[in-house]
Amino acid sequence: MIKNVITLGYNLINQLFPNTCVLCEQKIDFRQILCQDCREKVFGVFPVMSVNKKFRFLDKLWTFTKYDEIRDVIINYKFTPRIRLSKILAEALYKVYRSSPELKNIPHITFVPSTKVSKLQRGFDHIEKLTYEFSKVSNTELLKFLKAINKKPQIELDGKTRISNVIGKYRIAEIKTIPEKIVLIDDIVTTGSTIDECAKVLKSIGIKEVHGLTLAYNF
Ligand SMILES: [Zn+2]
Repeated sequence: MIKNVITLGYNLINQLFPNTCVLCEQKIDFRQILCQDCREKVFGVFPVMSVNKKFRFLDKLWTFTKYDEIRDVIINYKFTPRIRLSKILAEALYKVYRSSPELKNIPHITFVPSTKVSKLQRGFDHIEKLTYEFSKVSNTELLKFLKAINKKPQIELDGKTRISNVIGKYRIAEIKTIPEKIVLIDDIVTTGSTIDECAKVLKSIGIKEVHGLTLAYNF
């Protein structure tokens, strides 16, 4: 009886407030963000986990998948922007985090911040939002260590210029506590120079281990 009333209530809400999949616009239940097909497209990919790439400062890079596998979702999230996708992408990061014994014992997280200019253009800091959603699902503490100084966006530059452009781009914004280890979140790693520069700044204040956690890698 109660179950029937609840189902009836859900049906009514679905009628009154029709909801559509953020990616393909198929009709879905009001509690969902993606339809079943799109969900499988995002989560069906096997997590790549730790990536075999050497960095100067970053201790290890963990990632959900290759960029091509998740490109559409990331583009929709960043540029449309479809902010609700932050929850889905945070789930993807959490999948990697909880599967790794090394990562899941690190209770503090931070992120690669956007510059003021790109925040204004986009209307929000997409990595900060993603990290915030991740902190909720993973029950970790978000520490906003870094801020970005306006320099040319990395996307406009080639590989070599990217590395020199990124030096000095990140500074310490605030220090509340200095944990032994931290998880550093970003969306995509291409040359790795951005995330490594952030790891350098984090280590300069005494953090011993920095683990990168990203949605995708593209190299
Ligand atoms: Zn869909």
